[in-house]
Amino acid sequence: MRVVLISTPIGFLGSGKGGGVELTLNSLVSGLLSLGHSVEVIAPKNSKLYSGNEKATLYLVDGEDQISWQHQNYNSPVSIPENSLLVGMLEKGLDLAKKADVLLNMSYDWLPIWMTLNVDIPIAHIISMGSESSVISNLISKVYAKHPYNFAFHSKIQADDYPFIKKPIIIGNGFKLDNYTFQNSLNGPLAWVGRVAPEKGLEDAVYVANKLGEKLKVWGVKEDEIYASKIEQSFPKGTIDWMGFLSTNELQEELGKCRALLNTPKWNEAFGNVVVEALACGVPVIAYKRGGPSEIIQHGETGYLVDPDDKNNMLSYVEIIEKIERKKCREWVEKNASTDIFANKVVNWLNKAIDESK
Ligand code: UDP
Repeated sequence: MRVVLISTPIGFLGSGKGGGVELTLNSLVSGLLSLGHSVEVIAPKNSKLYSGNEKATLYLVDGEDQISWQHQNYNSPVSIPENSLLVGMLEKGLDLAKKADVLLNMSYDWLPIWMTLNVDIPIAHIISMGSESSVISNLISKVYAKHPYNFAFHSKIQADDYPFIKKPIIIGNGFKLDNYTFQNSLNGPLAWVGRVAPEKGLEDAVYVANKLGEKLKVWGVKEDEIYASKIEQSFPKGTIDWMGFLSTNELQEELGKCRALLNTPKWNEAFGNVVVEALACGVPVIAYKRGGPSEIIQHGETGYLVDPDDKNNMLSYVEIIEKIERKKCREWVEKNASTDIFANKVVNWLNKAIDESK
């Protein structure tokens, strides 16, 4: 299969601004290549693919980023800036896709979804968020009625945000196991990983660490600086240990030294890459029972699921974290979320979308 992949029009690959999509894209490229498919990736200027993905052709496009939908009102109209990166990537994608089997879109935006109705090339969409925009959800509903095989979701609970999707195609996500080393660190610090933005609920994890008289190690891009400094000021100085945004390799090495990852989403997290990355290093995860993490974590086996927003409930599970066998965390990832498992699911789905378009 020849696949042309459109990345997210927010930040270059490697910047962290695109959130989990950056890693998901690389995992998918790696899985598709190892299954023998041909892959072309269209991404913002300065993007780099992970090492090992050199066989994919990378096309770079310059232009203005989209505004991310999680930071707009649900009823905001679609906006497209002058010299739009999204438009540039789509133009390149449509051109390349004339000679390909499918155009695979990973951006959560109105325009590529609308295109599905208006060009002969099959365009398949990995929907990377829950319903964050009325205008996009309404469009998905309209396109789904005609092209039910052109949408895939990361988790069942994410797809539930789109109630008109009767039979959601669930592809999960994939992680290159070789990139994560198992560490049996039973006495390490507590970790939190993610974009520092309100929908990620960092303040609840800091509350838990502070109650225990510990520091919380925090990795990720400070997407919302004002929010970050507000949290910092509401706890004793030094409670947050800001570790910055690291490459996957550096991150997994540090994360593996931690005794647990706290995951505190305030929104319907589509999947939650960081949850699986922690598990891959042998780090159990304590998460709110909300969104993707509630489908990933096996309560009592690979971590604990906590009543949403109940910080004291989270605290009580931190106190019994040593009951989780760290080996089981890694084993779950091996059995359920390798790049090969992921790429196979995606290929099966794309074959359906391609067949239906004939
Ligand atoms: N991440 C990273 N380095 C860091 C912190 C985070 O590469 O220092 C990546 C992490 O690997 C994950 C992504 O940021 O792939 C966050 O994705 P997630 O699905 O958890 O949330 P999203 O940002 O997509 O809402």
